[in-house]
Amino acid sequence: MSLCDLAPEYVRAISPYQPGRPIEEVARELNLDPASIVKLASNENPLGIGPKAKAAVAAQLGDLARYPDDAAFSLKHKIGQKFGVKESQIILGAGSNDILEFIAHAFLAPGVSSVYSQYTFAVYPLAVQATGATGIEVKAVDYGHDLEAMLAAIRPDTRVVWIANPNNPTGTLARPGDLIEFLEKCPKDVLVVLDEAYTEFLPAEKRSDSVNWLRQFPNLLVCRTFSKAYGLAGLRVGFALMSEEVAAIINRVRRPFNVNNLALAAAEAALDDMEFLRESVRINSEGMAQITGTLQRLGIPFIQSWGNFVTFHVGDAKALNQYMLQNGVILRPLAGYNMPNSLRVSIGLPQENARFIEVLEQALAD
Ligand SMILES: *Cc1c(COP(=O)(O)O)cnc(C)c1O
Repeated sequence: MSLCDLAPEYVRAISPYQPGRPIEEVARELNLDPASIVKLASNENPLGIGPKAKAAVAAQLGDLARYPDDAAFSLKHKIGQKFGVKESQIILGAGSNDILEFIAHAFLAPGVSSVYSQYTFAVYPLAVQATGATGIEVKAVDYGHDLEAMLAAIRPDTRVVWIANPNNPTGTLARPGDLIEFLEKCPKDVLVVLDEAYTEFLPAEKRSDSVNWLRQFPNLLVCRTFSKAYGLAGLRVGFALMSEEVAAIINRVRRPFNVNNLALAAAEAALDDMEFLRESVRINSEGMAQITGTLQRLGIPFIQSWGNFVTFHVGDAKALNQYMLQNGVILRPLAGYNMPNSLRVSIGLPQENARFIEVLEQALAD
């Protein structure tokens, strides 16, 4: 038996996460000018980092020989004030991805199970699988979470349920009333992870009052990120709000210093830059109209999305994706999500969206 054969079966069975392809890699492979490439593959903020966050990063550069503040006092204080929670209810991560893994680590192990939806964020099944717990995938309805079926799928050995709202990669949204009903009916010994990575893009009337639900549901965890609307994907920083008890458990598996100095400073400044956030949301809703209007005009079916991306269905997604790549437009193929005939496009700047539209029309005409 080789060393690697001795790794747990459930680890060897993992097929790693497939990220959106980086510009440099595509440029190298297809011999394209990186400057001509438009990346609409990872739901990043097309405006880049906001001005306040950028200044905060610059101000930190002299201090990088020091470890960050592991308690993250300053950022947690700001988050606490903004969301009306105690610092002891906050967990920070190097991206919210980090936190999702801490959750799995803290609550899952061989012999227990975890529930998630079909067509949901690929990190949930991966994080579950890495612990040796059993993943229970519940069939989606109209590409979104079937909350009733998810409730019914919870077993006595279930410890964590994952809900992405809006969902990625489909963009579907659960209604606040349905989520509350889910929380009311969910056993209290099951942690409900409500992953709201795209919540900032929602109009106020569609948004869940999820942070206030924490008072009523101690088994709820609300996860947010600075990677999307806040424009800090490359710095890796996210946060989650929960009961003090759950935070204390998760803190046991959190690596020390898991969020770096630059990320802490940038995130704190980003929370104060409401102007940049508003602009990000505005650019997104205009771009969403630009892209979905075009898909409609071209007769290409798509899933109505509440995020900063839209998933559309084509006959041969693999061929179209290749054509788009060769013409310098990076999209996200969804074969890994068992959606082999679908592609996801992130909303970009108006000229990036226009380039996507131009190449798409060209592909259809060819
Ligand atoms: C992008 C995304 C995240 C956030 O990823 P980070 O690790 O914070 O960059 C979390 N959940 C969902 C559903 C996402 O789409």
